[in-house]
Amino acid sequence: MPWVSQELCTGCGLCVSQCPVDAIALTDGAAVIEEAECIRCGICHDACPRQAVRHDSERIPQEVADNLRWVRGLLKHFDQPDDQAAFIDRMRRFFTKERKVNEKTLAVIAEAETNPDAALEAAIADLTRSGGEASGS
Ligand code: SF4
Ligand code: SF4
Repeated sequence: MPWVSQELCTGCGLCVSQCPVDAIALTDGAAVIEEAECIRCGICHDACPRQAVRHDSERIPQEVADNLRWVRGLLKHFDQPDDQAAFIDRMRRFFTKERKVNEKTLAVIAEAETNPDAALEAAIADLTRSGGEASGS
């Protein structure tokens, strides 16, 4: 999802007026995008004269740091080295699962360039069926 650099934004409001779903508001003189409302159209990115609307990929370091802060906060609940090691292993498995979910999603999306709605519907039906079979076995 696009995001707004609060340092670069001048609060001119151009992106607010062009967003087709009113997902941007001016707060304390700068634009803020409401993630739940944004449809990822990219119009705000093209509209901003200050390059204040930034790409998702620039947030990777911050999101990794957020993940590590979360893991570190949970780690405080475990005092013993063995318990800490077991917890770290559970976290390793959790993030491995997240990676697999994203890799599978990416693979389906990459195959869906032609007639994407039908391709996505077919993939969802297939995954729902195989998920049901897996949970029922
Ligand atoms: S990407 Fe599109 S929907 Fe999302 S905030 Fe920008 S203009 Fe609005
Ligand atoms: S167009 Fe750019 S500078 Fe203007 S309010 Fe939007 S993000 Fe800020």
